[in-house]
Amino acid sequence: MATSSSSSSVPSAISSLPDVVLHRIRVSVAGNIAGHFALSQTCRKWRDVYREESCWQFACFKAGFGKPKLRRIIPVDGELGGELRWRELACLLAAHPGKCEIKSCKAANSHFAKEYAHLVRTSIRDPLSPTLAIEMHPLYFYLHFAHHPAGLTEAHALMPDTHSMLLTHLPTFPESKLSQYGPLCSHPNASCVFATFPPMESLSFEDGNGNVFLSVQNPDGCTILDVNRALVELIPQDMAHLQIALDHYREIISTSGMSSTQFVERISRDRGFLGDHEYPFLLELMPQL
Ligand SMILES: [Zn+2]
Repeated sequence: MATSSSSSSVPSAISSLPDVVLHRIRVSVAGNIAGHFALSQTCRKWRDVYREESCWQFACFKAGFGKPKLRRIIPVDGELGGELRWRELACLLAAHPGKCEIKSCKAANSHFAKEYAHLVRTSIRDPLSPTLAIEMHPLYFYLHFAHHPAGLTEAHALMPDTHSMLLTHLPTFPESKLSQYGPLCSHPNASCVFATFPPMESLSFEDGNGNVFLSVQNPDGCTILDVNRALVELIPQDMAHLQIALDHYREIISTSGMSSTQFVERISRDRGFLGDHEYPFLLELMPQL
């Protein structure tokens, strides 16, 4: 039949294409992560092409996503290692919007999508135009600042709000996990989106007086989670913040019907898509829960 002979000839036609043509086809898919997965499953030749981690890093980069730095090396099966591979990350980023209910996470990369589509850079290490202005992703303000009606311009000049920052690391109610950031690292798309356009390997944040209060580095490009985690490190370990966390934990325990032991066990297993999240003040507060 014409149909079967035509379909079987496609893979053989692809396998005869020179590598430079395959490369151009792959690059043309740019930031369409689902498109890269479709291409990688077309035939053995494409499967071989996509064995390279660099293909998936390119796909993530062009889509506006990086890989947040791990807090530390996580033991896996008794061995050191466990860093997420780029293909695994691309898989998470492609699947998460199908189940997440938070618009700013599902469409985390849409804010800069137009710019990324035209971005000539194919990796964070490509040179930047010195005249290009650096713009913060709106999630930086949304997650870390008390909401100001004056909008982002005014908020930009203010220091982040420690209460807002703390909430991004505390758990949420079990039934709200898909509809609230609690913690942020339960949401790979919001976490991995680059914190700035264009993406940067290093960021410095200044207060209203021009003093640098925060520096963030990630050789793969600073993501929202990198910035978020660096900010949370700045939260004072004082009674006021301990009390906020204590009230939060107690409220979840009282409405969930769990005992405090069950609660601690449950959230200790839920450590986000990188498997490295730690809940603020949990160890200190356990005797009071
Ligand atoms: Zn999400």
